[in-house]
Amino acid sequence: LPIHQAVLGHAARYGDRPALVDGITGERTSYARLAAAVERIAAGLAGAGVRQGDVLALFSPNSTAYPMAFYGATRAGATVTTVSSLATPGELAGQLADAGTRWLVTVSPFLPTALRAAELMVERGRPLAEVIVLDGAEGHRSLADLLAATGPAPEVAIDPGRDIAVLPYSSGTTGLPKGVMLTHRSVSTNLAQCDPLFRPEEGERMLAVLPFFHIYGLTALMNQPLRCGATVVVLPRFDLEQFCRTIEEQRVQGLVIAPPIALALAKHPVVDRYDLSSVEYLLCAAAPLDPELADACARRLGLPHLLQGYGMTELSPTTHVVCPKETDPSPGSVGRMVPSTELRVAALDGSDDDLGPGERGELLIRGPQVMKGYFGRPSDTAAMIDAEGWLHTGDVGYVDERGYLYIVDRVKELIKYKGYQVAPAELEAVLLAHPQIADAAVIGVPDADGTECPKAFVVRTPGSSLTEQEVTWYVAGQVAPYKKIRAVEFVDAVPKSAAGKILRRELRAREAERAG
Ligand code: ATP
Ligand code: MG
Repeated sequence: LPIHQAVLGHAARYGDRPALVDGITGERTSYARLAAAVERIAAGLAGAGVRQGDVLALFSPNSTAYPMAFYGATRAGATVTTVSSLATPGELAGQLADAGTRWLVTVSPFLPTALRAAELMVERGRPLAEVIVLDGAEGHRSLADLLAATGPAPEVAIDPGRDIAVLPYSSGTTGLPKGVMLTHRSVSTNLAQCDPLFRPEEGERMLAVLPFFHIYGLTALMNQPLRCGATVVVLPRFDLEQFCRTIEEQRVQGLVIAPPIALALAKHPVVDRYDLSSVEYLLCAAAPLDPELADACARRLGLPHLLQGYGMTELSPTTHVVCPKETDPSPGSVGRMVPSTELRVAALDGSDDDLGPGERGELLIRGPQVMKGYFGRPSDTAAMIDAEGWLHTGDVGYVDERGYLYIVDRVKELIKYKGYQVAPAELEAVLLAHPQIADAAVIGVPDADGTECPKAFVVRTPGSSLTEQEVTWYVAGQVAPYKKIRAVEFVDAVPKSAAGKILRRELRAREAERAG
């Protein structure tokens, strides 16, 4: 099914139930209103000149207007490329050009960045057709203007298996972000695949603080909840106090987060000032999470455990998740595999045999959720998806006897120390368990004898006088000798992406610069 149909096909049944709640103003939008708005916006976009197959960029923080614009655009036959709220004019223009964008939809606070990017597009000889400003700005069409459209939404014949619904860009954690072609079918099939493991209840209140522009927020906090009749409380960005206050005020039941939020929930004193007893489950994904931190986080919210999931943009995005109803999830696991998906664990040394339970290797996935490819990058696509349709995730993991998956780290991030492989995520977990360490990141730095040594970048808690040597000794006391941290640097903050991933490449770039 086309994505807007897969998500809003049941809207009539949910009728007056709130689909969206503005977490700041408390304003509610019913399912009936959302569905009607999507039809009108599609008509408005068609009236503005949007044609089937056009690429429309959505450059906005989370708001209740976001899903309206998103489904309105796909309903009009457009492909939506979602843009990070943190994009600079150059980055925005880069994505607009790469994706072949004609239409840019944004909000007034982002207009200066949007207009600068639009100028860059003119300079490149690829002018945009129009910049639409959802909340209105002089000289620009607004959401209200689109909603005022008279006449029916256009008739477009979408071929779900061929037409691209979303063109999100991968996070750019390991390299340049690449446009990921997700068809209507791959996205809507993935929602159905999640049903047995992660399906919000009708009327369940969820908090959408993770960005909709990233496939994780788009799926777990927009597409899936709205498809199931849940109520999505929307916040524009993460601010711990506002986050806690909204949970309390709106009696939020389902929390879907990423590791930086888990870190704040586990460690920040502010959390105790709010009544978070309405929360029924806590789901975290997108980057490795230390099991002790996960436990601390769950305890703080009075929950038996924190649930994890695993996915990537190229997988629409889900392959594994721990079901909120699971009574005995394996600690540290990212869950069981969704149906209609195949998994292989391939040996890291390149030998032919696949690995069995408990053995670590690269995860290979095949299923209907695999992307069509990277937009305009056939050789990158070929490097990622082999001739038999297996997507090489670049992640190292293993499966236990019960079928639960564990993620170790990315293949490329493994530190090669002498003959050994050290996972930065494991050392970061050890560091984060220290009471005087607020945050940490580990990378491999080349040393004189041609090997790589683990180096830690550590953020101390306020007032801590922890020394480099204390950090080194502390870690040495907990891990095998080859995994020892061999250098420590104290920093003010660990660089992270908007989706909550540690940007190790930035730390590596800093090191390289220093080494000259
Ligand atoms: P890029 O591919 O552009 O370098 P990225 O891989 O970070 O960026 P995403 O598609 O947003 O872009 O992220 C997918 C990756 O996130 C996975 O390949 C995996 O490394 C990591 N990941 C997702 N969920 C988990 C999890 N629960 N535990 C550990 N890592 C996870
Ligand atoms: Mg990736």
